[in-house]
Amino acid sequence: MPTRRDDVIRCSFCGRAAHEASSMVAGPSVYICDRCVRDATAIVRQDLGPAFERAAAPRARRPSGLARARTALTPRLLKGALDQFVVGQDDAKKALSVAVYNHLKRVEGGEAADFEDVEIEKSNILLIGPTGTGKTLLARTLARSLDVPFAIADATTLTEAGYVGDDVESVLAHLLQAADFDVDRAERGIVYLDEIDKIARRGDNASITRDVSGEGVQQALLKILEGTVAGVPPKGGRKHPEQTLVNVNTQHVLFVCGGAFDGLAPIVARRLSRTVIGFSGSTARRRVEATDADILRHVEPDDLVKFGLIPELVGRMPVVAVLDPLAHDTLRRILTEPRNALVRQYQKMLAMDGVALTFDEDALDAIVARAVSLGTGARGLRSVLERAMLDVMYEAHEAPGPARVTAATILDGAPPEREATSGPTAARAA
Ligand code: ADP
Repeated sequence: MPTRRDDVIRCSFCGRAAHEASSMVAGPSVYICDRCVRDATAIVRQDLGPAFERAAAPRARRPSGLARARTALTPRLLKGALDQFVVGQDDAKKALSVAVYNHLKRVEGGEAADFEDVEIEKSNILLIGPTGTGKTLLARTLARSLDVPFAIADATTLTEAGYVGDDVESVLAHLLQAADFDVDRAERGIVYLDEIDKIARRGDNASITRDVSGEGVQQALLKILEGTVAGVPPKGGRKHPEQTLVNVNTQHVLFVCGGAFDGLAPIVARRLSRTVIGFSGSTARRRVEATDADILRHVEPDDLVKFGLIPELVGRMPVVAVLDPLAHDTLRRILTEPRNALVRQYQKMLAMDGVALTFDEDALDAIVARAVSLGTGARGLRSVLERAMLDVMYEAHEAPGPARVTAATILDGAPPEREATSGPTAARAA
């Protein structure tokens, strides 16, 4: 039966329009009105008898995926899970693992966490690091390890209510979708909010070119970050203005915010040099020579405020972790080591066509060198490989057998060698 006619929300059971019902519950693509809920409940109650009350009661106490997970998880185990997919970034992995462990304690503890009036506050996380260094991957891997829904949102698409763009609640719509519209599950999910640095307000920081002040968006985000009951349009956006809002409590939603924060390192460096100058000129000079990542490790909330985030928002992200730019060695490891390493993915894909793909060591070095020159972190690895492998993928199914990617394949677009070789150069990567 069609759920909606004439763009009017109707009960999928009785066809009553939303304005004719006192309340309407929305599912992924169905609706049910309060009257049909009552009727359905009466039918099920009659069918099940006493079993009905038993079946209904434990639902509230049923442990969520998250709560079940905590008993088995320690910060060390969490970091181990991250290690399988994320190369390097040890400091960030440790900070995240501890923050998430505490978060789970808080979620699972519930009343118990409110020990003698000491309430454990929610610890959202801020990841600072250049593009393509694994910020999104860290958040995604966490969600996967915890078996909780995960959504990615871009802070730059968000606007204050009333402006053209997405309301901040649309972030939660993605989470609801990732949870298959199971509100309980969504309320324990993880949201990765990218480019949070781009909604910094203009002023102190000249590098921010956003026209509309980001402050209104920051204010709006503040509410969902600290925990509120938000009315979420299940389909997101404003394209479906007629949809019934679903209430999502964000008290236990973990927000991981990320950004490159270009221009933050000089702010931190200036503060540091102010504090060290006068003690020792040489220390100050050493600081100046330090890399941005070294400097950023000393970041303090005030620096983020100077950068253009409002103090309240900074206060809602008490855990700050800094990611390193990826050096040649790390990129090389990313190519072959993670469980879903790119090289392994290509080998697996081509194995399905009967092609045994190997990479010369200097081919791997050439891929990394190209990727470094692109300046997009590990993201560049995929684009370099994708281009080099295009012809191989195009023809692979026609000619099963060995295929050896050499440096010439990467540098000059030469076809991979198709003869079987057992020479020492034909390193089997991964
Ligand atoms: P960011 O969010 O920091 O811009 P992503 O996490 O989206 O970067 O990473 C971009 C791509 O590079 C992804 O495919 C990811 O798998 C890979 N990648 C980035 N950093 C790492 C890392 N440290 N270890 C493994 N893969 C990485």
